[in-house]
Order: sequence, then C-alpha cells, then structure tokens
Amino acid sequence: MISVQNLDLAFQTAAEEHKVLNAINFEVAPGEVFGLVGESGSGKSTVLRCIAGLYRHWTGGISVDGQSVAGRLTKAHHRKIQMVFQDPYGSLHPKHTVNTTLAAPLRIHSIGDIDRRIVEVLGQVGLPTAARFRYPHQLSGGQRQRVAIARALILEPSVLLLDEPTSALDVSVQAEILNLLADVRRARNLTYIMVSHDLAVVAHLCDRVGVMQQGRIEEVLEVPTLLAGEARTDYTRILFEASRRYDRSMASSLAGAAKTA
Ligand code: ADP
Ligand code: MG
Repeated sequence: MISVQNLDLAFQTAAEEHKVLNAINFEVAPGEVFGLVGESGSGKSTVLRCIAGLYRHWTGGISVDGQSVAGRLTKAHHRKIQMVFQDPYGSLHPKHTVNTTLAAPLRIHSIGDIDRRIVEVLGQVGLPTAARFRYPHQLSGGQRQRVAIARALILEPSVLLLDEPTSALDVSVQAEILNLLADVRRARNLTYIMVSHDLAVVAHLCDRVGVMQQGRIEEVLEVPTLLAGEARTDYTRILFEASRRYDRSMASSLAGAAKTA
C-alpha cells in the first residue's frame, strides 16, 4: 500500500546542508496501522510530509497504492492521502465555522452533495449537528480534533497520516480520540501512519512501529515485541523504558474509555 525506499532529504540553510532523512525504508500493508516513534527532531513529521507531497525535494522512492509520489501529483492522489496534525487549534482557521472548514476540501475537489456529506461526517466523528456552525474557539480541544479528523475523512481518503494527533489533548480526551480513530479505520478500511512519542498510543493503535533516531529508522518491530521489552537496539529499549513510566495514567484511561464505549 505504502512503500518508502531509500528516502533521503536535506534542508539547505545559509551556511550548510542539514541532512534530515537518511535512507529511510519501510512498507505499510493495506489496512495496517504503522507507527513512527523517536525523539523530537528525529525526522518523523518530515517523513509524513514527504509522503503527503508537502516536501518535494527528496530522493529515493515513495509510492502509495502503486502510484509514485514523485513528480506532479494529481488531485485524485491528493484526495487519497490526508493528514491530521497535532494541534487542532493551529490547523483550523479561527474565523471559519466547522461548516466552512468541511466544505472547503469538497469545493476544491469539485465534489457535490456538500450538505449531506457534512452532516454524515459530523455523525461519524461523534460531533453534534449543533457544532456545524460553530467556530473553533467555541469547541473543546477534543471537539476541535474531531473537526480536523472530519476534514480529513470528508474526501474519502484511503490513507491517513496522523502526526501526534492526540498529544495536545488531556489524557481522558486522548483516549476518546484514539478510540474514534480505531473505529473509523475499521469502518472505512483505512491505512494509517501514526507519529507518536507515546508508548500507550502506539500500543493502542499500531500493528508495527518504526523507531527513528537522527533521520534513520533504527529498527521496525511488531508492537507485542516492543511491549515485551524485546527490542533489538538499546536506543529503542531506553526510549520505551522512559515512556512506560510516563504512560501509566494514559493506559488506565484507555482501559476506562474502552469499557464505556
Ligand atoms: P520530529 O517530527 O521527529 O520531531 P521533524 O521531522 O519535524 O522531527 O524534524 C527533523 C529535523 O528536520 C529537525 O532537525 C528539524 O529542525 C529539521 N527541519 C524540519 N523541517 C525543516 C524545514 N522546513 N527547514 C529546515 N529544517 C527543518
Ligand atoms: Mg514532529
């Protein structure tokens, strides 16, 4: 479904070339949830941006559904891959109602039936119809992230690229949003790549995870292997030992949300 081969990328600053991605390789199967974890600045968001077509100056190969992401991307291709960002407050236009935000991608892609699609997607992400004509500041953090997810889903993509989609939210709300993402993935048979620094998030949603350090993927492992503490590299073990302590409250909150869902 998604194939990344020998992906290299550098940013040119005034003084020097800063190499950010170094021979990144991984494959994601249709319907799989693949996690990317690693310390801040290791290149996780940059990988997502390359796949989404937001960065074009990489070398190597990226393909989605057998179609290369290099060269000129068609509208159909952009429609297929949608991104959800960490901070819904930053990614939603403060002066646009939910309705305006959700109608915009439909207009860009000349898709009709706008009213029906908006009502339908609001229901799918668990927002009340009353939210439709509200502004971002009139919504809670969790509701704003539901709007960002609705905006991604309204184009009926096959891939969601999730960049720390719950890190800006309270722990109890994080669990709700993760459960929503899991439900939506099943209902629509989507493929996800999910960036997170949080072990509980990765364990809850992902099948496999690639561990990044300084622009490289150190190892790719199955989540049960990771949770059993059987990572191959010291780096991965240290990373997860650190997040395990921090994640206890999140794990219990997820268990609570699953029971009430
Ligand atoms: P992560 O998401 O893992 O925290 P990023 O992918 O955002 O890391 O960043 C990886 C590295 O690339 C960092 O060193 C960052 O400073 C650098 N970087 C990211 N975007 C740019 C940019 N547009 N211009 C220059 N450097 C960038
Ligand atoms: Mg990032």
